[in-house]
Amino acid sequence: MRFSVVFFGIVLSLVVLFAAWSNLFREQRSLGDYERAALLLDRSPKREWCDLQTSQSRLRLARLIDHFRPRIQELFNAQSGADFPEFKMESVGPILLRLSPSRKAAQDYEISSWSWEDARDKYLKTQRNPLAKDIGEQWRAIDTAVRYLLEQDLRRLVFSRPQLEPEKTLHLFQPKGAVIRSKQNEWQVKLSAGDFAGSEKKIEEIFRRQWWSHGRKVQILWVGPGDTASYKLVANRRSARSFVDHKTREMVIAHLAWTRTVSHELGHILGFDDHYYSVWNSENCYYQQKARLGDLMSHSETGEITEEHWQLLEKAYSLDESQTSKDFRYVYGKPVQKAQEK
Ligand SMILES: [Zn+2]
Repeated sequence: MRFSVVFFGIVLSLVVLFAAWSNLFREQRSLGDYERAALLLDRSPKREWCDLQTSQSRLRLARLIDHFRPRIQELFNAQSGADFPEFKMESVGPILLRLSPSRKAAQDYEISSWSWEDARDKYLKTQRNPLAKDIGEQWRAIDTAVRYLLEQDLRRLVFSRPQLEPEKTLHLFQPKGAVIRSKQNEWQVKLSAGDFAGSEKKIEEIFRRQWWSHGRKVQILWVGPGDTASYKLVANRRSARSFVDHKTREMVIAHLAWTRTVSHELGHILGFDDHYYSVWNSENCYYQQKARLGDLMSHSETGEITEEHWQLLEKAYSLDESQTSKDFRYVYGKPVQKAQEK
């Protein structure tokens, strides 16, 4: 009898201990992605004066977005064409795309500034008037700002990636196995339609507006999902983010993205880098983001495919597949050096 009481006691305390331990474990795991990033930034030995100033609001905003993420995702999902009455929409598969306005390609830059102070002000505004008509739009803007700022802070403080002016930025071109040069003036990209099955013709038409120019063209070769070199199209209704994931080989297209965004993402599958330039101002604690208006890899709203993009593609892919180049660096705006003849 006594033995069973002791035994029961031991088992009970083990159970309690395990419960406490697993709770502790869960507590640790329940840190959101943004909060984790903010804590990582707070530990960086490279922190500057600005980072000490903004550390508190960075952590608070990161936690806030983690906490409200399901609701913010719902806000993105609930967006409709009516939220953008000034733009024409095109329905493509499960999402709507905003028709990029046709503007003359410009050589200059669009410049925007981003700071934690500004992000905090955006949040405070939602608290002053929580019933504002555009409250959903305000929250989406906070989400966008917090993501951008965390990404840039991580670049600067954790990954030590240089943030330079456009003319000093070395981009990396990475030729991909999903691409072949099928003719002198033609490239072929293997895609599988995924969420956009049935809309292949529409997607091709959107690509054609940018990727048939300067006497050259990119064609799409639609393949089944089993083709291991191909990229699969995925629709995103949970954020405003469109991107290419080279690990999972997915081209993710956000609901209400620009039509040109889809062509920008094809640029990544062809091997281009983002031509984004965020320069840190350490005196006044903000990032200045520059986007080249006439360059599709820099500006998805107004950008175009230029002669320079085509020259980079010619350098990267040879008609003789065995001569397709390795990764190489380039500065956009400087003459492209031809691939060396063998
Ligand atoms: Zn991009």
